[in-house]
Parts: sequence; C-alpha cells; structure tokens
Amino acid sequence: GAKVEGRNNWSFYDEGALQAAQHDTQLEALLRRALAEDELELHYQPLVDLRSGATLGFEALLRWRDTVQSPVSPPEIIRVAEERGLIVPLGIWGLRQAVAQASQWRARGKQWFVTVNISALHFAHGDFLSHVRAALDEHDLPGEALILELTESALLEDLDSSMPDLNILTSWGVRIALDDFGTGYSSLSYLRSLPVHLVKIDKAFVFSLQQDGHAFVKAITVLAHGLNLLVVAEGIEEAWQLEGIGALGVDLGQGFLLGQPLPASLAGEVLGTSGFLRGNEPTSGIQG
Ligand code: C2E
Ligand code: MG
Ligand code: MG
Ligand code: MG
Repeated sequence: GAKVEGRNNWSFYDEGALQAAQHDTQLEALLRRALAEDELELHYQPLVDLRSGATLGFEALLRWRDTVQSPVSPPEIIRVAEERGLIVPLGIWGLRQAVAQASQWRARGKQWFVTVNISALHFAHGDFLSHVRAALDEHDLPGEALILELTESALLEDLDSSMPDLNILTSWGVRIALDDFGTGYSSLSYLRSLPVHLVKIDKAFVFSLQQDGHAFVKAITVLAHGLNLLVVAEGIEEAWQLEGIGALGVDLGQGFLLGQPLPASLAGEVLGTSGFLRGNEPTSGIQG
C-alpha cells in the first residue's frame, strides 16, 4: 500500500543521499591530493576567428593529469570544489597556470589571449583580485591577454560584491566573457549594465541551429554587436554548423571541429600554423 511505498521511498532517498555524500567526500579527498601533488593540468581549446580562420586564443579547461578519461567530469569537480571549500585554491591555481602559459605564447610575438573559467565564489573572497594582479605582474602579461569566463547565473548571484571587482579588472584591460549565454534565466538588459566584453553563446543553440537555435543566435549576435560585445559560439562540431554560425555574423567559434582541448605543448603547435587548423579547411561560407 501507500504506507509501504512511502517508507521505501524514504529509505531509498536516505541511502541515495548518504551515497552522494560519501562520493563527494571521496572526490574531495582526491581533489585535495591532486592540488597538493600537482595531478591536475589545464588543456587549451582554440578560439577561432570565423572570418580569417586564425586561432586568436584558447580557453583553459581543467583536466586530471595523465588520464585518458578524467575520473570525474569538470563540472562535477567544480561542484564539489565549490561545496567543500576548494574552489578558491583551485581557481587561483588555474589562473596562475593559464597566465604563465599565455605569457610563454605571447613571447612568440602575437596577441594571443587565454580565457579562464571563474566561479562567482571568488568575488566573495577578498584577495582574488590581488592574485590576478600578481600573476599578470609576475609573468609580465598585459591584462588584454586574459579573459575571465563567468556564467550569467554566477555573475548575477552576488552582483553587489562582484561589480566593483569587475570594474577593477576591466580597468586593467582584463576582459569578461559571459559563458553559456542563453541557458540562464537572466534578463537581456543585464548586458547593458554589466562590464562584460564577450558573450559565449551556449552550445545548445549551435546544436539546434536547424530549429529555434537559428533565431536565438541571430538575435543574440545582433544585440551583442549593438552593445559592442564580441560574440563567440561554443560547440561547433560539424561543417554545417560552422557555415551557419559564420553566416549569422558570429565573431569567434569554438568546438571539436575547430580544435579539441589539448595539453599546452600540443596547443602551442596549433599556434605555429596560420589560418585553419590542419584537416579543417575553410568552407566557402565563412571565408571573408
Ligand atoms: P564551459 O566553460 O562552457 O566549457 C566548454 C565545454 O564544452 C568544455 O567541457 C569543452 O570541452 C566542451 N566542448 C568544447 N567543444 C565542444 C564541442 O564541439 N561539442 C561538445 N559537446 N562539447 C564541447 P569541459 O572541459 O568538460 O568543461 C565543462 C565545464 O566545466 C565548463 O564549461 C566549465 O563550466 C567548467 N570548467 C572546466 N574547467 C574549469 C576550470 O578550470 N574552472 C572552473 N571554474 N570551471 C571549469
Ligand atoms: Mg567556459
Ligand atoms: Mg561555455
Ligand atoms: Mg558550457
């Protein structure tokens, strides 16, 4: 009857919650060890100028070192890090790695940038900005070479405390990208008031480009350009998506078709090739 079912549901729920907590505790321990023993690394995925086909910069993405497949996905690592008080050391580690790498690449004489994903929790912790400043100074990297990626929900969560920080970062030349744009429930009017420089259209819209994604990408691009923002499309996997996105005036593209996330040494080789990455010849639709 209903009573037995109810009991079963409760016991199932408790067991699930317990397992989830144990899982998180194990992952937390793994993560602490990884941070202490240098078991993490960043991989770098190209951001490609859709008019020239040139790689203009890279997004830094968290990976477990020396594993074919990470024991846990990056979003799960980030969730546990946020819940267990590890996101600040993890974020600062990532920032320092990426800034050091960007400065090596800039030493080759081009204006390449690196983008780093940042949790909004950093702004609640007072010294994040001083870590950014110190990393830039230590590696003699201009702020223009660094882009911080924040999701709209993260950004809007605590706007009062993040706004002054964002303005300081902007004054250093550091740019802010609104990540996964279109997936949150924030108002488009925030684009006017936030110190944001790039909009990264979520891959869901690229995947649905043959349906309603087309209208979204078109509208977001027109709006963003009207506000002098650069537009990036994520998740470009197929040639028809690349053509469709290019035809809509999107500035930059990112996705497996244009380049996988790669360890720094391999990503560096990409920078040696001009124009489109080997094996991905430009299609007629996106040649300027
Ligand atoms: P994101 O910032 O939106 O990063 C883009 C994600 O899409 C990456 O997944 C990337 O590997 C994946 N991707 C790139 N091109 C394609 C494509 O063509 N098709 C598909 N299906 N996926 C593509 P990843 O590396 O698993 O990271 C997932 C999320 O985890 C990131 O989403 C970001 O929110 C978070 N993340 C990753 N690294 C970091 C980090 O160092 N710090 C923080 N705070 N978050 C991170
Ligand atoms: Mg990102
Ligand atoms: Mg993204
Ligand atoms: Mg995303």
